[in-house]
Amino acid sequence: MKKVVKFGGSSLADARQFQKVKNIIQSDPSRNIVVVSAAGKRFKDDNKVTDLLYLCHAHMKYGVSDDGIMKIIKERYISIRDELNLTLDLEEEFNVIQKQRSLEDLDYLVSRGEYLCARLMSEYLGYDFVDAKDFIVFDFNGKLNREKTKEAFKKLYVLHPKMVVPGFYGAYVNQKIKIMSRGGSDITGSLLADLIDADVYENWSDVSGILMADPKIIRDPKRIESITYSELRELSYMGANVLHEEAIFPVREKNIPINILNTNDPTNPGTMILNDCSEWDKKHPAHFITGIAGKKDFTTIIIYKSGISAETGVALKAFEVLKKYGISVENMPCGIDSFSLIISTQTLTNCQYELLSDLKSALEPESIRVSDHLSLIAVVGRGMVANPGISGQIFGELGKNNINIQTISQGADELNIIVGVHNDDFEKTIQVIYEKFLR
Ligand code: ASP
Repeated sequence: MKKVVKFGGSSLADARQFQKVKNIIQSDPSRNIVVVSAAGKRFKDDNKVTDLLYLCHAHMKYGVSDDGIMKIIKERYISIRDELNLTLDLEEEFNVIQKQRSLEDLDYLVSRGEYLCARLMSEYLGYDFVDAKDFIVFDFNGKLNREKTKEAFKKLYVLHPKMVVPGFYGAYVNQKIKIMSRGGSDITGSLLADLIDADVYENWSDVSGILMADPKIIRDPKRIESITYSELRELSYMGANVLHEEAIFPVREKNIPINILNTNDPTNPGTMILNDCSEWDKKHPAHFITGIAGKKDFTTIIIYKSGISAETGVALKAFEVLKKYGISVENMPCGIDSFSLIISTQTLTNCQYELLSDLKSALEPESIRVSDHLSLIAVVGRGMVANPGISGQIFGELGKNNINIQTISQGADELNIIVGVHNDDFEKTIQVIYEKFLR
């Protein structure tokens, strides 16, 4: 059995959390490849080391001293080292960082959070430290070079069968550090799971798996026991954030399961993310809904023109205008004499009037109407596929609760049903669906 285990920032926030991580790793001999984030928050209003490092860079940019912030970061790591009786020469590590950092190299500075965490963790576990910059290779266009990465890793793996790797970064072919997008340690873990052909990729954070709905909206929501990669993509896109969305791609091809687990509740089985849940479903009959997620604040642009549905090239013209402004469309419900573009309101902030005027010139409609305050809510579930009557039940329940549905759509793979409601009905819609079908 081969496992890659990745620990998020809250699992590494202080010496106590380091101890929990060590217990977890030592309780299973297959946990040999460990990926760490930078130290995260110890309590609600605490700072993440990565955020502090970004702040240092901002200070450098404006020529303001960041000594105070650097001191906070240094003390965080020194306290972990001292409480765990480790010997890493952090004073010297910080001297090197001071010397090497530069305004032009944000990536180097920001990557030091993960680097230092991995150095400490490797000493604490007695595992080898393997720097991500020595095998995660990016081309100069910023794309991962899978071949070079594979080649470099192969050599390292023979020498270091038990290793701790800092997440979140790699390097260009010239060894210059390149960071990934925020939360990128999830991707590092996933890349490693692919590289070692892991049986499972364990992703440890401070939640016991993925919940069926947002706990800020639903009291004590149930845990999702298993979910497909595709379902997770749908839920994450609609705001349920547990895993970096790019973390699925490296493991998807080989169908390596991802297990979302909680460092503070290690016996909880968490959520299993699989490419195909059919075997799982045979043993564990599931709800037809896997989860509910949603986002507020969309704008609908409704374009009226008699016979518009019979006219060719209308959508193309509209999309050309949207492309000019770099705007993507969430949804596009159509009628005979009208069609609507549903767009995130935030992306329209600086260009709404120019965009409308361009749409008018391009499409020559009879009128254009704009309506704000729309929420989109996705009900996601593999159990809905080829199962008649589900949308009817959902819409019926919303109707009974006096919720007006402004727009409806379902993906052709029948994995999700998306309803659009007024922002004021956002929470209530999720509550009604959850209470009726999932409680
Ligand atoms: N430390 C980085 C961040 O806060 C990467 C990670 O934690 O995955 O975004």
